[in-house]
Amino acid sequence: MASPDQFPNVSFADVNAAAAAAQEPGGGTAVFSGDGAAAARLRLARTGAEQAVEIDLAVAQIFKLGRTEWLCVSGETEAKSGVEELFSRAIKVVLRTEAESKAFSLAFQRWKQRMISGKDGEPLENGSITVCKSKFDTKIEASSAQMYFHYYGQLLHQQNMLQDFVRTGTYYAAVMENRSDFEGRIVVDVGAGSGILSLFAAQAGAKHVYAVEASEMVEHAQRLISGNPSLGQRITIIKGKVEDVELPVKADILISEPMGTLLVNERMLESYVIARDRFLAPGGKMFPTTGRIHMAPFSDEYLYVEMANKALFWQQHNFFGVDLTPLHGSAFDGYFSQPVVDAFDPRLLVSPPTYHPLDFTSLKEEDLYEIDIPLSFVSSVGTRVHGLACWFDVLFDGSTVQRWLTTAPGSPTTHWYQLRCVLSQPLYVMAGQEITGRLHLVAHSAQSYTIYLTMSAKMWGVGAEQGGILQTSTAKLELKEPYYRLSQPQPYMPQDQQQQPLSSLQAQVSGQQMQDGLSPGITVEQERDSAAFTR
Ligand code: SAH
Repeated sequence: MASPDQFPNVSFADVNAAAAAAQEPGGGTAVFSGDGAAAARLRLARTGAEQAVEIDLAVAQIFKLGRTEWLCVSGETEAKSGVEELFSRAIKVVLRTEAESKAFSLAFQRWKQRMISGKDGEPLENGSITVCKSKFDTKIEASSAQMYFHYYGQLLHQQNMLQDFVRTGTYYAAVMENRSDFEGRIVVDVGAGSGILSLFAAQAGAKHVYAVEASEMVEHAQRLISGNPSLGQRITIIKGKVEDVELPVKADILISEPMGTLLVNERMLESYVIARDRFLAPGGKMFPTTGRIHMAPFSDEYLYVEMANKALFWQQHNFFGVDLTPLHGSAFDGYFSQPVVDAFDPRLLVSPPTYHPLDFTSLKEEDLYEIDIPLSFVSSVGTRVHGLACWFDVLFDGSTVQRWLTTAPGSPTTHWYQLRCVLSQPLYVMAGQEITGRLHLVAHSAQSYTIYLTMSAKMWGVGAEQGGILQTSTAKLELKEPYYRLSQPQPYMPQDQQQQPLSSLQAQVSGQQMQDGLSPGITVEQERDSAAFTR
């Protein structure tokens, strides 16, 4: 049996009772305890009094009222003339210090969690329960998750996403232009962060929004929602992972922003799909609905030389009397294992892009563990190919308007920029020549992917027609450790200033964006704060 958590000197008052205020401050104790799957309880007792309030944590939630004040709401049943009636009981609990208050909320979550996990837990012989890890915890290393949610718990990172006006503006437009998908509906915001998408859904007339967020950002979100009461009264914030929390009703529509670099970084799409299976009513909608990873070979001599030159440091034979060359190979490989994140000029693409679709409404979570994409392109020019450029877009398939959010090169820049996998051995191609290969993404427990890239082209030059010999180049890259190349001058130029040689190509890359321009009044300028992006 787990030892109970005790908090001496708490005050508590039943909010429903008229005599609530009569209690002496600090005149009671709060004890969390439990010894079985469904038996986690909070017992609130007054000093010297025999009677105590017992709260079943299975049906209780706490809400922060102030620095040291909590509202504990529990669902109770009462038999009235033979019929069971459900009612809510609310008790205000006041701790002495902020530290105690934090410890109280942590203990509450811990004991409640134990109760939730315990459902599937195996009772051991000594009577304790093995805590069954949640779906998230079995896949993801605790240290990675801790850093991840710590990051999103900070307002500056939420601000960075909010200030990506292409992103936030497109979500706003997608919601407001499809009011009929939100009006009178139950919405779940998957990974609510600051709560912005919940507030959009409420603006579009949602009946109620459940905003699920696992990081400490919930405290700020609660404040934002309370500060916008006409919308906030239709929003409930729930702290926890979408893999773990329970919701009282099924949702008509899910809204979420689960996209990372290359769409899949952070592995949050898996949580989005799990949320779909747990919370969405049959036939419900998902915003966004589908996504696509786009890819095309590129040629960028400057980038290649820049990366190769970084390793030149290790070519020195006499660095303060030390020969550094034994490490040159490792340093070179290290630089080329970093995918490059920046905004590049679409004229660097050497062939029309292809894409790999992901349908969030039908995808299985396991489909995202390994993503294997065959590559086949035809080069538009004779050049050196330095690797594969990637970006993504997502579709909000609304009942009224279909809206795309794109991160394509040549489109207004987002905080995702684009991603390029650079080959340490470039390929030589002629115009019209086929480039084949494979992009193989393998998920790992640090919430990201290892990227295995293979690109091949037939040899050209004398005797090529007979030979058909392939030049093949491979790369292994770590998506979690990209090279943010943003201190460089930004290569993006407005489309009307661009030269024409690959203009047809470029139209194919950004055509979607041009068809689906944002509504008037939505700013698409992006603040170029090079330090302030990570997703
Ligand atoms: N919806 C907000 C925030 C998007 S960032 C916006 O659009 O501005 C993604 C958010 O999802 C982060 O705040 C992160 O903490 C949260 N998150 C990621 N995985 C989660 C999970 N499994 N359960 C709950 N929240 C999650």
